Amino acid sequence: MTWETVIGLETHAELATRTKIFCSCTTRFGGEPNTHCCPICTGMPGTLPMVNRKVVEYACRAGLALNCEITRRSRFDRKNYFYPDLPKAYQVSQLYLPIARNGRVSIATAAGEKVVRIHELHMEEDAGKLVHDPWLDQTRADYNRCGVPLVEIVTEPDFRSAEEVIAYLEKLKSILEYLGISDCKMQEGSLRCDVNLSVRPAGSRELGARTEMKNLNSFKAIARAIAYEARRQAELLEEGGRVVQETRRWDDNKDATFSMRSKEDAQDYRYFPEPDIPPLELSEEYLEGLRAEQPEMAEERKRRYQTQLGLPEYDAGIITGQKALVDFFEEVTALGVPAKEAANWMLGDMMRRLKEEELEPKDMRLTPATLVKLIGMVQAGRINRNTASKVFRGIFAEDLDPEEWVTVHGLEQIRDERVIAGAVARVLEEHPQSAADYRAGKEKALGFLMGRVMKELKGKADPGAVNALLKSRLETGGSEGG
Ligand code: ADP
Ligand code: MG
Ligand code: ZN
Repeated sequence: MTWETVIGLETHAELATRTKIFCSCTTRFGGEPNTHCCPICTGMPGTLPMVNRKVVEYACRAGLALNCEITRRSRFDRKNYFYPDLPKAYQVSQLYLPIARNGRVSIATAAGEKVVRIHELHMEEDAGKLVHDPWLDQTRADYNRCGVPLVEIVTEPDFRSAEEVIAYLEKLKSILEYLGISDCKMQEGSLRCDVNLSVRPAGSRELGARTEMKNLNSFKAIARAIAYEARRQAELLEEGGRVVQETRRWDDNKDATFSMRSKEDAQDYRYFPEPDIPPLELSEEYLEGLRAEQPEMAEERKRRYQTQLGLPEYDAGIITGQKALVDFFEEVTALGVPAKEAANWMLGDMMRRLKEEELEPKDMRLTPATLVKLIGMVQAGRINRNTASKVFRGIFAEDLDPEEWVTVHGLEQIRDERVIAGAVARVLEEHPQSAADYRAGKEKALGFLMGRVMKELKGKADPGAVNALLKSRLETGGSEGG
């Protein structure tokens, strides 16, 4: 039997507001445990929450970008559960009237464009973190993350493969980053994903029973978890078994999922409207204002880079593929570097170094000003383009000063005509055959001789000047030069 995999996603994104959703504690990542807390976010009796208006704005912006209907009168609800990472014993979330519903987002797949339906987007607060210490056999609670604002974005079960899921997450990440409302760092947990998965006989229209894999935090883990779980369910069904609806934990080391608990129902949480927060009324003018200010997203930006700046589609695609690259490119070109030259540096030298350092563009330390300075040194004839690549390699990781690097490493371009002429003469003398070949019409010999002279000058001469001098010496005869 052939099985079709059906997947729906629940994605949590931490919002990049300065303060928490219901108090003015900082949302900064890390910090000494329990230093980013107050009586409100730790749920002390007698405190009252106040909604952070930035959170509402960001949630609306995300809803609009995902083509959702924004709920003009939405509400918060309490989701009650007891767990030590949640000092209030309830999470303020939205169940009945989420702020945005019925959206859609298109993704690029191998088979072409595909529309994924967004069921809803709602606001909620994050919980704390439990730290297990196996040596002391203790568990400690860090409440710094309590009350950090989140949006949860729920899709319909529209995915059929891991590729589609990843294409969607890339798209979602891009949208949130272009909006500037989340930094989407999967490794810091600011973007995390629950994968709901079922299988059904190919061609069937009914949905099978599903399992949920919680808090997957890398694309690699997601792809492997999907492959494993789809196979597990198909094998179970083929043996005549039944898939139990439950939450399963993906273990990246064991490369398998394990049952955690039977799936809880909404009623297990005894949801009820949050009595301490009045319903949220959003005016049409407010939403119109947000619509008018929505920034240009990746596709539009890509098209503009092609038509307006004349970048090849490939270059435009890579740069607009990540907001950090777009920001870098915008700054470099604003400082006067032509678009194509900026793109060449970024796609060549920069990408190579990012890969070597295993860095994401957004974690890169190199600043646009440093690259512009380096490019300026090439334009001024202080170093040649090849040397500039070497300098780039050296200064990249720590954002060092290219001037200083060139001085310290003695890379300044050789401009002394006599030095270049001397090198040309030596090379012609050592390779009379190549010189003769060139004079006999073998253009290729020139390239070889060029290489020798550049090597002789430790790569520091201006290739144009070397080329000109070499040609003139070859054309005026005598291999003894002078
Ligand atoms: P709950 O409220 O119990 O979390 P929902 O119906 O809201 O369940 O669905 C949660 C997620 O699971 C959604 O992303 C939805 O698309 C997905 N989902 C629901 N049913 C299935 C199924 N049979 N197979 C795969 N995904 C599913
Ligand atoms: Mg759910
Ligand atoms: Zn607080």
